Amino acid sequence: MRVRIHRGTKEVGGNCIELSSCGKMLLLDMGMPLAAPDPAKVELPRIDGLMGGDDSFLGIVISHPHFDHYGLVQKTPANTRIFIGSEAEKILRATIPFGSFGMRFENVTHYQHRRRFEVGPFQIMPFLNDHSAFDAYSFLVEADGQSLFYTGDLRAHGRKARLFDEFLETAPRGVDVLLMEGTTIGRDDKKERTQTESELEDEIVESLKLTSGLALACFSAQNIDRFVTFFRASKRVGRTFVADLYLAHILDALGRKTLPSPRKSDLRVFLPSAMKRKIVRDKSFDLVAPYYPRRIYPEEIAKRTGELTVIFRPSMAPDFEHALSGAKLFYSLWPGYLERGGFDLRAWCAGRGIGFEIHHTSGHASVSDLKRLVQALQPKRLVPIHSFAPERFQSFFPNVQQANDGEWLDI
Ligand SMILES: [Zn+2]
Repeated sequence: MRVRIHRGTKEVGGNCIELSSCGKMLLLDMGMPLAAPDPAKVELPRIDGLMGGDDSFLGIVISHPHFDHYGLVQKTPANTRIFIGSEAEKILRATIPFGSFGMRFENVTHYQHRRRFEVGPFQIMPFLNDHSAFDAYSFLVEADGQSLFYTGDLRAHGRKARLFDEFLETAPRGVDVLLMEGTTIGRDDKKERTQTESELEDEIVESLKLTSGLALACFSAQNIDRFVTFFRASKRVGRTFVADLYLAHILDALGRKTLPSPRKSDLRVFLPSAMKRKIVRDKSFDLVAPYYPRRIYPEEIAKRTGELTVIFRPSMAPDFEHALSGAKLFYSLWPGYLERGGFDLRAWCAGRGIGFEIHHTSGHASVSDLKRLVQALQPKRLVPIHSFAPERFQSFFPNVQQANDGEWLDI
């Protein structure tokens, strides 16, 4: 088996890994680079058969529904064979009516946690992960008597942390090559430990207690762990959580009994004005219909500010202008986004005299958890991926071999 990382050896995002065995090719992820100024202009990597007409190309295994792992798939032929988790696919479908990041696959196979499957000469074992994306996996790939482990993106301090511990207990030892993500390396690698998702919940509870008006929760609607954190924290202080239509639609599509349902639980559903205009334009009224009994309108929000936590993003700013007395914004995304220009949330809060606080924990594993992973897998070679500081790996782990984008490695 040979492996070639087309993108990701020196950056976070845009992962694309080609595996080759017996004249057959398979891809692990095909993401959009996060720094691409114009995604339309990003070219596909040169891979034999990718654009069709060559049965040596077997398909693309997507690790999780984040754009930096699947974003380039939209440029491949519609009948490209795709392997993805079923709930990851549900999320990608659910986001289609709301913008450009959704996707529908024509030729899709769902893989499952710890169920080995075969694609041509490759035997693949998926392992469900703890990550900020829902339904995220790592893979053990075996071919020609050799083994490669690809972590995808993962962490060990979220709501599914037990999966990480379970994995460590049964990890395949002595893999030939480990492709390991290192998002926090070079960014956050001096931290002694990382706050867990439930510690974050406690922190938010304390801050909610000190908030008299509306609590604006600024997080990604696709980060289900974080939604649960805000939902639970709100419940603990007697606040009702208000989802917007986008989040409601994702929760409804997942249809999980363990998650609050926007059709019948104590969630309320708000339709932001920008979304309302889009729905009128697209005549997609059936998107809103399931949530009529749970709808909440601006008048009620303005009257009950101290009893509510609402999901918030900059496009919703005009919707709450009349309800901001005593409000506080809980910023719960990677703080680096604040420095990237665009809508200035801190200035928006300051201009209205409302609070701004960062309450966030990473979607990616700390160095100490990555060390536990390496210790369990005992790889013969460790190749850094999904990191801006691959050169720092060797100060933390043994057997590191740095790769370059586009270069073949024999396993
Ligand atoms: Zn990623």
